Amino acid sequence: MITQEQPLKCEECGAVIPENDERQFKGQVICEDCYMTVLSPLKVCDPWAAYCAKSFSEKPGSQPDLTPVQTRILQVLKETGGLERQELAERLKLSEEDLKRDFATLRHMEKVRAEKRDGCIILSLS
Ligand SMILES: [Zn+2]
Repeated sequence: MITQEQPLKCEECGAVIPENDERQFKGQVICEDCYMTVLSPLKVCDPWAAYCAKSFSEKPGSQPDLTPVQTRILQVLKETGGLERQELAERLKLSEEDLKRDFATLRHMEKVRAEKRDGCIILSLS
């Protein structure tokens, strides 16, 4: 059998190379596509760029635990020295339910406390 009639195949990707389109590279017969690839390799990803982008997004020094509402609660309690829950809710324009939830969170962080003064429950900084 004569094998010379076999179509020329790229030694890199195995694709059939059209007549007269074969390229020689380092002793290999490769197709036009592979030839372009070996001559202009894809740019390697810069691992440092990805690393920096990731660390910047973490925002060191921020306080992710406090919501803006919780920050306001602490601010108002600091300014007033303590308020009844209803009064605090009115100042912050919150429902008592919302205030209750955020206050509970702050209390859990030991930033605030509730105490009885003259028969009223007063919320204040701890
Ligand atoms: Zn190829």
